[in-house]
Amino acid sequence: MPVTEHNLLEQLSTCTISHYTVCYGICNYSGKKILVIRELEASGRSYYIGVDPNSLETCLMQASAVQMEPCSWQKLQATYKNTPYISAIRTASGRSYSLQDAGIVHGFPKEKGITLTVDLCPSHKPLDRIIFTSLISEFWKTEKPVPIALSVTGRFMLSHEDDIRWLKGLIEAHEITVTWVNHTYNHRYSPWKPLKNNFLLSPGTDINLEILKTEKTMLEHGLLFSVFFRFPGLVSDHRVVDILLGYGLIPIGTDAWLAKGQQAYAGSIVLIHGNGNEPLGVKDFLTMLKGKREAVMKKEWLLYDLRQAVDLEFMNQTSKSSLFK
Ligand SMILES: [Zn+2]
Repeated sequence: MPVTEHNLLEQLSTCTISHYTVCYGICNYSGKKILVIRELEASGRSYYIGVDPNSLETCLMQASAVQMEPCSWQKLQATYKNTPYISAIRTASGRSYSLQDAGIVHGFPKEKGITLTVDLCPSHKPLDRIIFTSLISEFWKTEKPVPIALSVTGRFMLSHEDDIRWLKGLIEAHEITVTWVNHTYNHRYSPWKPLKNNFLLSPGTDINLEILKTEKTMLEHGLLFSVFFRFPGLVSDHRVVDILLGYGLIPIGTDAWLAKGQQAYAGSIVLIHGNGNEPLGVKDFLTMLKGKREAVMKKEWLLYDLRQAVDLEFMNQTSKSSLFK
């Protein structure tokens, strides 16, 4: 029986992962060119994690199954500069100066719906499961599985093992499909500090740990991360955006944080919190969903997969400017 990616991920989740590092290279896998971005070891075997620069899908590969040619990040960016992945990286680099909401904040403008992102910041409260059960019941006739992006923190995963298992059950039952977004490991926050010294900009933050330990923790839970990253509090500066891009990751902001009173429009990247700490945003989202019931039934209002929303935009270079602030 061929080893499927799902099996590989499940195998990894039972092993101790070591030597988890950033590693750049190129290989052929499943008939496609794949850019390798990470390597790791588990139970004496080596693995790579790569990204298809055209579809933005990530994949997990056994190192023994591919011929990997090492290559610098600079050279990869130059060689694949016309792909949606490298175009998104390059554009994010040029738009990294705002203190809040750097990166992609809007999807493909011709969309007849939204891309939903749900943040799972550290929390003592359980996952707000009603978000998922409502989506499944509203979209069961028109979109199955329902695409959702989940921005997850290391600390949330460790204290919500049951909720993560429940989400994986929904994925295996093809009820939802998840783009797993890195939301850092610790998600440090102080209510008293100004934004420029808060969240990931807090003095003493180990950005390497915040990025890589979250990825490793996702793998240990059988989850394959995407190339997307959400800054805690949506707070960043030019320096941390540049560091992040050097890991091959793309920052995702929002143009519709519902609990802050922002409205969702066609193509919006909507943000709600699913960690029990933002009941207002969830309530607003459920009200919006009910209001769209008729349009959903007629397929006039859809949910978009974050990977495809970004991909479509960068294949359509003429409207690129609408994506970023
Ligand atoms: Zn957060």
